[in-house]
Amino acid sequence: MKRVRTRFAPSPTGFMHLGGLRTALYAYLYAKSNGGDFILRIEDTDQQRYVEGAIDVIYNSLKESGLYYDEGPDIGGNYGPYVQSERKEIYAEYAKKLIDLGGAYYCFCSKERLESLTDANGNRKYDKHCLHLPKEEVERRIAAGEPYVIRQNIPTEGTSSYEDLIYGTINVDYDELEDNILIKSDGMPTYNFANVIDDHLMGITHVIRGTEYLSSTPKYNLMYDAFGWERPVYIHLPTIMKDATRKLSKRYGDANFDDFVNKGYLKEAIINYVALLGWAPKDNVEKMTLSEMIEKFSLDGISKSPSIFDEVKLRWLNGEYIRALGEEEFYEAALPFLQKSKVNGKYDLKKIAKLLHGRTEVLGEIPEKIDWLAEIEPYDLSLYDNKKNKTDREVAKNLLPEIKKYLAEIDDFSNDNLYQTLSAKAAEAGIKSGALFWIMRIAITGQGVTPGGATEMAALLGKEETLERIDFSMDLLNK
Ligand code: GLU
Repeated sequence: MKRVRTRFAPSPTGFMHLGGLRTALYAYLYAKSNGGDFILRIEDTDQQRYVEGAIDVIYNSLKESGLYYDEGPDIGGNYGPYVQSERKEIYAEYAKKLIDLGGAYYCFCSKERLESLTDANGNRKYDKHCLHLPKEEVERRIAAGEPYVIRQNIPTEGTSSYEDLIYGTINVDYDELEDNILIKSDGMPTYNFANVIDDHLMGITHVIRGTEYLSSTPKYNLMYDAFGWERPVYIHLPTIMKDATRKLSKRYGDANFDDFVNKGYLKEAIINYVALLGWAPKDNVEKMTLSEMIEKFSLDGISKSPSIFDEVKLRWLNGEYIRALGEEEFYEAALPFLQKSKVNGKYDLKKIAKLLHGRTEVLGEIPEKIDWLAEIEPYDLSLYDNKKNKTDREVAKNLLPEIKKYLAEIDDFSNDNLYQTLSAKAAEAGIKSGALFWIMRIAITGQGVTPGGATEMAALLGKEETLERIDFSMDLLNK
């Protein structure tokens, strides 16, 4: 059997959209699960859309997500160049061949003439005007330097048919298709032409891409057939939706790989989640490493129906990955976010990281979870109202002086010692420890939700700060 070769062929837009990342991932998984090669090709023929640094974004996001390609512009390979703008001569050569084979023709039509073809509904279809120009005239006009494009010659009748491994038999009537431009007047190919030439010359056996190409694939097949080349196997992937009606579009900035990384999602979690957007393994396991995905990947697990991008699920998965990190790994991952918080420089970030580890789903939320640690500010006194512990602000008013007294006598402000000593004091005085800890936690944090209990928070703040905050809260209660 032929060695499987798949490719990812992004246009350098400046960001890695998650839809693109999913195409790359499935192409990678298909190649790797079949012992084949995964190739990166840059489709940059639209030079007007050139974005500085955009190709690096592609290299980096693929490598960071673990999708190492076997051939590509920056690492080379036997089928290069892997950047389309460097393959202009190749396209010119094959365009000429296709013209000789009757599959394409030169077109000199002016913009005005093309515009005049627009019908009452605003639709326009090229009328094959230049297909019928005598050969001598074509040669004369080219020699005279007249600008031209090369168009594909599509039959006017009949139906084309091919098999897609996901969507089954696809039939398209030729009269729904148009004689699209293959080579533009600047000599650059369009996607319509370049994808065929490159996929063939690069030995691509399986073309994996989004469903938006499902209906234009018959055009590409005409070229494979005209050249006498074997058509690749087609695997079109279901659309990813933002919600029930809207596509997850490149325009939504929040659907980019880098944005998710910056928000505090782990790369492993992102790539794992992206894998589930349209595919499920037979055992329905959701948390998988890349090598587990390679093991489990098969096309019959790919669904035909669109999948909905669900950030809540991504959050959950990210939380799972975060909990699975070792203490030190978590600290390193969390560090940039800890450093962004107001506590930076005030408290031991390692200690805070330890408290946050089991309580964090997305790292970007760390600053808002701990900023209050830097300074206590007036807060809502109804936080003291707690049914379970039978507390309210009156109870707090009475208990806080006691709590302060106990704390003042404690020198070892470790969590364990604080917890034991205060529990014992509460028992001695006949105070419910639940009530004591509730009141103390609100008094020293001013927060309803904290990344740890009263004594953990006091251990973090230290004795001096803890006592100052109790004073602050007594004042606040007595106002
Ligand atoms: N450059 C095309 C895109 O970014 C690639 C489509 C394909 O994989 O053939 O959509």
